[in-house]
Amino acid sequence: MTARQAHPKVVRTIDELRATVGDWQAVGKIVGVVPTMGAIHGGHLALVDAARRHADKVLATLFVNPAQFGEGEDFSVYPRNEEDDLTRFGAAGTDLVFIPDVGEVYPDDYSTSVRVDGLSDRLDGVFRPHFFGGVATVVAKLLLQTNADKAYFGEKDYQQLLIVRRMARDLDIPVEIVGVPTVREPDGLALSSRNAYLSPDQRAIAPNLHRLLLRVADQVRGGVRSGSAAAELATADLIGAGFDAVDYVAVCDAETLEPIEELTRPGRVLGAAHLGRGRLIDNVPISPAGG
Ligand code: AMP
Repeated sequence: MTARQAHPKVVRTIDELRATVGDWQAVGKIVGVVPTMGAIHGGHLALVDAARRHADKVLATLFVNPAQFGEGEDFSVYPRNEEDDLTRFGAAGTDLVFIPDVGEVYPDDYSTSVRVDGLSDRLDGVFRPHFFGGVATVVAKLLLQTNADKAYFGEKDYQQLLIVRRMARDLDIPVEIVGVPTVREPDGLALSSRNAYLSPDQRAIAPNLHRLLLRVADQVRGGVRSGSAAAELATADLIGAGFDAVDYVAVCDAETLEPIEELTRPGRVLGAAHLGRGRLIDNVPISPAGG
């Protein structure tokens, strides 16, 4: 078990990162990595906890990746507070935090990108076309930079988890991708760094996204409505509850993310909706066996 400490060790260059991880792996330590964009909350810390359970050394990365933000999105105002993040990582037992600057990750003449076809074209990929390419590229780089044995991603970003898993497999990156269940507030709202954008009134509306996704899951599991009919009703009810716009609510196959009407295999109900400055995403599992 790793000792809990006020601040974990910080490295800012790939060379320093490789030196520390190399020392660990030379003596047989299993290394788990938790990639984040910072503004650390309980959801991120659940990934650190999972890594602590399965790995000998836990490494977190803190990098707000410009490549996954589009024109007019929140890159410049994305919450950044390195000091608080390090305190939280330290309290959770993180051994090392890699905090590269943009030039370390993307030198001036950087010109390579990774794209996972198919999975990236649905759902969030329709509304944020640049997003999954930016994610796949930076995660491929982080996995190669860290050389971690295991990497932890939240089910909160379910489509991202599937894309990262496919990317690592397709590129033969020798890492195990581990998915961690979503951590929620007591009223069901999924923890997210972007919840900080919500006003008190919007914060009161926000849990309806989870509530209505659960209702879709119940209706489809119970055979009360088809996938598309349940999703359509939930979309209308999200607007009725006070959301400004709904990008999608969809019932999908849990592996391919193809839309499904009836449940014959494990599925996932996913949704994305706008509330003031915030865009919330969430998802819940749905299985024929009642899961
Ligand atoms: P982010 O910093 O938002 O890019 O998130 C970093 C990682 O934390 C991703 O793998 C997310 O899926 C995961 N994550 C974010 N929020 C949650 C949550 N509420 N529960 C579980 N994992 C989460």
